[in-house]
Amino acid sequence: MTEPMMPPAHPFDDDKLKEECGIFGVIGTQDAANFVALGLHALQHRGQEAGGIVSHDAELGFQSARRFGYVRDNFTSQKVMETLPGPLAIGHVRYSTSGNKGQTAIRDVQPFFGEFAMGGAAIAHNGNITNANALRRELIERGSIFQSSSDSECIIHLMARSLQRNIPERMEDALRRVEGAFSIVAMTRTKLIGVRDPLGVRPLVLGRVGDGWALSSETCALDIIGAEFVREIEPGEMVVITDKGVESHFPFRRVAPRFCIFEHVYFSRPDSILGGRSVYETRENIGRELAKESPVEADLVCPVPDSGTPAAIGFSLQSGIPYAMGIIRNQYMGRTFIEPTEQIRNMGVRLKLNVNRALIKGKRVILVDDSVVRGTTSRKIKEMILDAGAAEVHFRIASPPTAWPCFYGVDTPQREKLLAATMSEDEMREHLGVDSLKFISLDGLYRAVGEAEGRNKSCPQYCDACFSGEYPVKPSDMLEKGFEMKAAE
Ligand code: SF4
Repeated sequence: MTEPMMPPAHPFDDDKLKEECGIFGVIGTQDAANFVALGLHALQHRGQEAGGIVSHDAELGFQSARRFGYVRDNFTSQKVMETLPGPLAIGHVRYSTSGNKGQTAIRDVQPFFGEFAMGGAAIAHNGNITNANALRRELIERGSIFQSSSDSECIIHLMARSLQRNIPERMEDALRRVEGAFSIVAMTRTKLIGVRDPLGVRPLVLGRVGDGWALSSETCALDIIGAEFVREIEPGEMVVITDKGVESHFPFRRVAPRFCIFEHVYFSRPDSILGGRSVYETRENIGRELAKESPVEADLVCPVPDSGTPAAIGFSLQSGIPYAMGIIRNQYMGRTFIEPTEQIRNMGVRLKLNVNRALIKGKRVILVDDSVVRGTTSRKIKEMILDAGAAEVHFRIASPPTAWPCFYGVDTPQREKLLAATMSEDEMREHLGVDSLKFISLDGLYRAVGEAEGRNKSCPQYCDACFSGEYPVKPSDMLEKGFEMKAAE
């Protein structure tokens, strides 16, 4: 049987790490699914391939809708939203980080639903289970029948096998078997549940909306529904929310948290608050640190839009070199060229970005970008800037060299495809053909996120594995496939 498959959401290789997923849930409001749709719309940057919503209504029970594509194209029509009634709903936007990588099948679209002896439950997962292969093998041997290729489905099957008497306890049981990164929003008929893994790798926040409550990957999605940000769900915490309020407990062994530092650099929206800090301000700080660490004489500081913008502003403020929008982004790419012809494909980056020639001609330009992954886009941008008549091009990168893949819910190329895994900084500069190339140091990045002393080497305060190669959770599945971790120093 063939089933509908979604073409990759990124027909042009924009050479970025791809955000994981966004999750959102609401309890205690009329037509909760409408709030969830709005929340997911605000989280669309975390996944553009597909989205799904499950709701519960006392009369109709659980209802669900799962669709390929953007939230705005799928969950705005009255016809669809009328099928999702009730005061309790959760939702998920997806970019595939496991299973059918880069090509989503409708059966892989979350939330996943399970019917248990004590009632149904739906779950939406952001992160990645690093021992999913072993769990899946074990579960299949014991009779589980998987419906999808997603690692997240293991949680439903582990819950089904648990002997605990209620769904939150079954979920705890299941999650104790799971390694890796997980932020989860789940629901039963009467409860909204939020959980974060003990390291707190991926974000999850709690909000108050009228008399109800919301759980969200980021605070920007609380803003859109007029919810008040209450607090972050803590690493290792489970909250169970009912009409009586929020119950919190910590079912896992306590460990030192390791939140993803790349959320500050790139994944989260700049209007979100992470760890009590504005993401925008952190990114501006990163630019300031970069300017202190790697100054250069130039005429203009230009961001590679949009993600390089706050860091470029910070660089400009610190260095006193004027900020200019030397590259303009076409905001309306969308899915216009979802099946691009060869001719259009060759235009590549030019379809998305255009150089502001009048500004650039004859100038020494500092380009600020958030990261260099494979370097393909950086090379093209450099060519465009030189074609426009720039006198010099200097790259300043708002993250350290990305030399290791992420196994915690971010789609990264294989290690050998990462430019920084195979080249020194100087070799990268030569490869990109720029006058200078500098990355922020790991200590500089830690200072920018508020750690005045920089990175604590014996016990790092964040996950920074894609820069340092020091993985806070053993990537068991990948080790099985032959991945070699960095040798201990
Ligand atoms: S490896 Fe990098 S992207 Fe992945 S969780 Fe850690 S810091 Fe974030």
